[in-house]
Amino acid sequence: MSVSIQTSHLEREKSILLTHDNSVSHYQIAIVGGGAAGITTAAQLLKQNSCLDLAIIEPSQKHYYQPGWTLVGGGIAPINQFVREEKDVIPKRAKWIQDYVTTLDPEQNCLTLAQGQTIAYDYLILCPGIQIDWHLIKGLPESLGKGGVTSNYSKDYASYTWETIKNFQEGTAIFTYPTTPIKCGGAPQKVMYMADEYFKRGLGKNHQVMFCSAGTKMFGVAAYNATLEGVVKRRGIITKFQHNLKEIKADSKEAIFDVTTDKGIEAVSIHYDMIHVAPPMSSPDFIKQSPLANDQGWVDVNPYTLQHNRYPNVFGLGDASSLPTSKTAAAARKQAPVVVQNLLSKMNRQPLMAQYDGYTCCPLITGYRSAIMAEFDYDGNPTPSLPLDPTKERYSMFLAKVYALPWIYWHRMLKGEGFEADIFQPINQLLQTFGNDLKI
Ligand SMILES: Cc1cc2nc3c(=O)[nH]c(=O)nc-3n(C[C@H](O)[C@H](O)[C@H](O)COP(=O)(O)OP(=O)(O)OC[C@H]3O[C@@H](n4cnc5c(N)ncnc54)[C@H](O)[C@@H]3O)c2cc1C
Repeated sequence: MSVSIQTSHLEREKSILLTHDNSVSHYQIAIVGGGAAGITTAAQLLKQNSCLDLAIIEPSQKHYYQPGWTLVGGGIAPINQFVREEKDVIPKRAKWIQDYVTTLDPEQNCLTLAQGQTIAYDYLILCPGIQIDWHLIKGLPESLGKGGVTSNYSKDYASYTWETIKNFQEGTAIFTYPTTPIKCGGAPQKVMYMADEYFKRGLGKNHQVMFCSAGTKMFGVAAYNATLEGVVKRRGIITKFQHNLKEIKADSKEAIFDVTTDKGIEAVSIHYDMIHVAPPMSSPDFIKQSPLANDQGWVDVNPYTLQHNRYPNVFGLGDASSLPTSKTAAAARKQAPVVVQNLLSKMNRQPLMAQYDGYTCCPLITGYRSAIMAEFDYDGNPTPSLPLDPTKERYSMFLAKVYALPWIYWHRMLKGEGFEADIFQPINQLLQTFGNDLKI
């Protein structure tokens, strides 16, 4: 009996998936992507006006706190600590459409889904995140997750990063950084510093750690770059800049880099015993192929109002947007209220007054007891949330990354709540009382 019930249930699911649904539904607001940016924006919008008719289009059954994958790779926390059911983070009054958007037609104010349905909208918010182009590195897709080849940029391999670090015996550990924009530009270094510390504890000097980056420095913001150069020097990490990973030869454990020299580009092979890859990334293909993309493929929005540059009823935020700042969840947290306020103004035919200043934050773990809370704006100015020198490595910032930020994400940000007043004000008061010399 139970077998036949199960079979018919499966058949029903299959037939639902196979049915090409040509129906058209209409929503006042359609949000594409139920990740960090999409859920935060939806929650804030519905807090402002619970009557909004709002749909979130998100294919995934699960919602991931991706900043946690760094902690998984460093052996600080298990992967299951950073995942929730998507249904549990979708705001109660929002309609969840579980499907992929395949095409966007802003002239007709509609989009189509993988299963054929058309969604018409009055207003559109685009935040489908960034696409990881594993295939652009020859040999990488087939070698990931074994033989010491790993990446924290996937939930599937973050645990393997820790396994690899734990079991590393001797030799060369390479950490790469690509030419393209990536999410959390600091993540490839965070795992490197933890690995280096772990190796030193267990292996003494029998290893070398190498940072092979397509860039020309450790970090784009001068104030934080200076500290990181000091960290690398202190740790004895070898840096190789203008090294762009092109191929993994898993059989011979070789990483092949395109190296920019005075004479042009040369292919250079470096032997690895483990390699952590930060892969190339780009805007999702369906955005690139749509009229909503700029010439680099990103959702083409005004950097201050986050309104689309050509379609005024469209807004964009998060990793898929053209915003010229570092792509982080922290940035999305500051972008969401700007989209919310400006979209509501647009709906009420008011001028768009809210402005985003490019705020982003990268909690740069530099060891198992230290981190730099690298907060900055469009101009590369440090914008610390607390009155402390933000360029200093601090244990308190490590604790913030491990404990406070995940809590804020699940319990405040995704619920559309602010937290600055609750958390920063009392800390600020404490710091003002005891001064900047407090050893935290
Ligand atoms: C290893 C790692 C470490 C990081 N560390 C930090 C950190 O310390 N601090 C920090 O602030 N940020 C960090 N980040 C970056 C942060 O996770 C992202 O910047 C943030 O999640 C961006 O939010 P988003 O909503 O734009 O994209 P996402 O959160 O990726 O969400 C995009 C959503 O869109 C959905 N989607 C994709 N395609 C479609 C489609 N066709 N149709 C509909 N939906 C679609 C996806 O399923 C996904 O749920 C880190 C990321 C990684 C991977």
